[in-house]
Amino acid sequence: MSIEKFSIEKVLSVHRWTNTLFSFTMTRPAHFKFTAGQFARIGLKVGDDLVVRAYSVVSSPFDETLEFFSIVVPDGAFTSNLQHLKVGDELYLEKIPYGFLTLARYQLPLPQDLWLLATGTGLAPFISMLQDFETWSKYKKINLVYSVRTASELAYVDRIQEIAEQFGEGHTGFKFIPIITRDPHAALHDRLPILIENGELEKAADLHFNVETTHVMLCGNPQMVDDTKAALKARGLTMNRRGEGNIAVENYW
Ligand code: NAP
Repeated sequence: MSIEKFSIEKVLSVHRWTNTLFSFTMTRPAHFKFTAGQFARIGLKVGDDLVVRAYSVVSSPFDETLEFFSIVVPDGAFTSNLQHLKVGDELYLEKIPYGFLTLARYQLPLPQDLWLLATGTGLAPFISMLQDFETWSKYKKINLVYSVRTASELAYVDRIQEIAEQFGEGHTGFKFIPIITRDPHAALHDRLPILIENGELEKAADLHFNVETTHVMLCGNPQMVDDTKAALKARGLTMNRRGEGNIAVENYW
């Protein structure tokens, strides 16, 4: 891997949500331009090696710093080192962003109803998209659906409310819908494909999936992405290709 492809940035803050979930911010070089929903490639020196992983950007393209949301993968070469991150540490940032999970990819159907379906750290790109006034002005309905195993893993809940107030001021069509899969007492506790098949997700959102009006984005656990895609296709929705279609996806690892 050529080191010239990277700039060296500094960690500005670290926030720990649980023992295995944390967020961090770092300096953003002027050359690093991205669209909400894209990911960055971040490098960490482990001994003499540069270990690189992809991370969706949490912050908005208008922010002066970059924020990321990470899980500690047991025995993972990258995150087991990254979890010890502290303010002032150096990280490598590849100079260009990647990825096509952006709202700009949708041409038809025209924007009306937006469903953002995330598991775990797959929430990141959606937080970025919601910090853009254009998202709120384009869509009449926005449902942010966030599936985690336990309530303690529900990161960013307060931020989501703040973002909805700040960016969606006056918008009446936003719903935040948490799913807690290992808490049988949670209002929604089945996995996403089941909630789509049995109609519970649409009931919670008070909105139906509709081939003429739905844009639906999936990000997170690769198996969730596959299974949820299948459940949505069974409802008549189509993959977005060359601008047309309902479903856009990103595997988070
Ligand atoms: P996770 O297992 O992805 O679970 C998060 C949520 O997704 C839970 O609500 C879970 O439901 C649900 N889910 C899992 N499989 C699903 C499926 N097929 N369909 C629908 N929903 C599904 O948990 P996590 O804590 O985010 O990640 C777990 C492990 O994934 C980590 O320990 C790590 O090894 C790996 N991971 C790696 C990276 C990476 O960058 N390398 C990033 C994230 C995660 P259930 O409770 O029913 O399982």
